[in-house]
Amino acid sequence: MKKLLFLVIALSFVLIGCKEDPSKNEITFKFVQLNDVYEIGSLSGGKYGGMDRVTYVRDSIKKENPNTFMFMAGDFLNPSLLGTIKVDGERISGKQMIEVMNAMDFDLVTFGNHEFDLKEKDLQKRLNESTFPWITSNILHVTETGNTPFTIQKATDTTAIERTHVFNIKDEDGTEIKVGFFSVTLPSNPQKFVHYDDMYGEAGKSYNDLKDKVDVVMGLTHLAVEEDTELLKKLPEIPFLMGGHEHNAMLVDVGTSKIAKADANAKTIYIHTVTYNTKTKKTSIDSKLLPIDERTPSKPEVAAIISKWNSILELKIKDVIDNPNEVVYTAEDPLDGTDSANRGIQTNLGDIITEAMAWSYNNEVDGALVNGGSIRVDDMLPASITSLDIFRVLPYGGEILKVDIKGDLLTQVLDFGKSKRGTGAYLQRFNFSVAADSGDWLIAEKPIDPAKTYKIAFSDFLLKGFDIPFLTPDNEGILNVYSPEKEESAADIRKAIILYLKSLSEQS
Ligand SMILES: [Zn+2]
Repeated sequence: MKKLLFLVIALSFVLIGCKEDPSKNEITFKFVQLNDVYEIGSLSGGKYGGMDRVTYVRDSIKKENPNTFMFMAGDFLNPSLLGTIKVDGERISGKQMIEVMNAMDFDLVTFGNHEFDLKEKDLQKRLNESTFPWITSNILHVTETGNTPFTIQKATDTTAIERTHVFNIKDEDGTEIKVGFFSVTLPSNPQKFVHYDDMYGEAGKSYNDLKDKVDVVMGLTHLAVEEDTELLKKLPEIPFLMGGHEHNAMLVDVGTSKIAKADANAKTIYIHTVTYNTKTKKTSIDSKLLPIDERTPSKPEVAAIISKWNSILELKIKDVIDNPNEVVYTAEDPLDGTDSANRGIQTNLGDIITEAMAWSYNNEVDGALVNGGSIRVDDMLPASITSLDIFRVLPYGGEILKVDIKGDLLTQVLDFGKSKRGTGAYLQRFNFSVAADSGDWLIAEKPIDPAKTYKIAFSDFLLKGFDIPFLTPDNEGILNVYSPEKEESAADIRKAIILYLKSLSEQS
C-alpha cells in the first residue's frame, strides 16, 4: 500500500513536472467537425450515424476540455427523405435538422451548396429558427435593394450573418488566444436569390481582415478538395481548413497546412486537438477520425427529438410499404447515388431503378427511362439496403407509366437527355445502348426504327415536360399512356424497386 502511494505521488510529480513548462505558453482546445449530414438519425437500421450519438461524444470531450467547439462545414438542410414530407400542408424542408442542431448546440456552421436547394422563403425560415452562429465570406442574399448579407430574423431583432467569426479561448492557467474563422462555399448551385463572390478573393480579404486581430486564422469551407488545396496554396499562412462536400473522409496535407473532411451523414466525425504556442506562434493539430456507430452511446435529449421526427416519417412511409427498416437487398458493390454520377453517366443504381421499372410491367416493355435528377440521396448507399434507403433515393416517388412512343420521338428524347449531361435531365436507361461505329442509339442492341412504336416505362415526372419540354402526352409521337392501378407495383416507383430487389434476393 505504501509502495503504491509512493508510486502515485512520484507519478503525479512527473506529470505535473512535464506539464509545468510548456503549458504556460501553450493552449490546447478541441474542434469537433461534421460535414454533409443529411439525416438526423442513424442509418442502415442503426448501424452508423445519428446526431444523438455525436452529441454524446462532444459532451464527453467537453467534460475533459471545456474549450471544445463543434462545427458543421455545410450541406445539412437538404436532401433528406424527411425534408420532402409535408406536415400541415408544408414541406419539412430542413426544419427537422435545425431543431436537432439547436439542441446539439453548434458553435459555428456555414452554407453548403445544398442549403440553396431550399426555396428562398424556406431557407429564411430555417435561418430564423436557428440558434447557432453561421458565417460566410463569399455568399450574399440577392434582394430588391441589392446584394446584402443573409440575415437571421428573430422576434426582437435581425442580425446579419457574419463574414468572419472569432473565438476567444482561455485555458485554466490563463493562456488566452483568439482564433479567427472565415468561410467560403463553392458556387455550384446557382439560384436567383443567391450571389456568390469569388471564393479565393473573399477568403483572401477575410484573412487580411482577421490576421492582425487574432492569433491564428482558420477556414470552415465547403469546396471541392482541389479548390481547398488551391486556397491553401494561395494563402499558405492558413494552417487548417475544416471542409465538406466530398462525403468521404480525408486528411490532406498542403505544404505545412492541412484539410480535413469527415464522412457524410456522421458515419464518422473528426476530433481535432489543436495546440497553439503563444511564444513560437506555432499551431499543431492532431486529427482523429471517430466512427459513429452502434457502440456510440446516445444523448437522450437529442434522441427524443430524432424519434419524434422519425415517427412522423414512418407514418408517411407506411402508406406505401409495411416495414421500412427491412433489408431488401445486399449489394456486392455499393450503389452509387451521388448527384454527379447520376447526372452524368449510367450508374449501377440507375440500372437497378430502370430494371425495376421494366419489371413492374412484367418486362413487357422495350426499355425504361428515368431522369437522373429524381435520384436525391447524393450519397453512396450502404451495402445492406433497406426499404427506407429506397425512399431516401427517390423521396418524391411517383408512378411508372407505360408509354407507346414512336421511334423518332424516342431518339429525340434520348438525344436530349444526352445533351443535358451534368443536369437532372440526364437520363438513366434500361435496354438502351449506343452503336460503337455510328454512335446511334440502340434498343435491345438493334437500331431504333423511327417509324416503329415502342413500349417504354417512364417515370411520370418525365411526361410532365419539366426536364424534356417536348415530352408531354400531347406530343403526336406519343400514342398511348398507360397509368397503373393503385394496387399495381408501378403505382409507386419506390415500391416497384423494393419488390424488384426482393425478387432478386429470393432468386439468389
Ligand atoms: Zn456539397
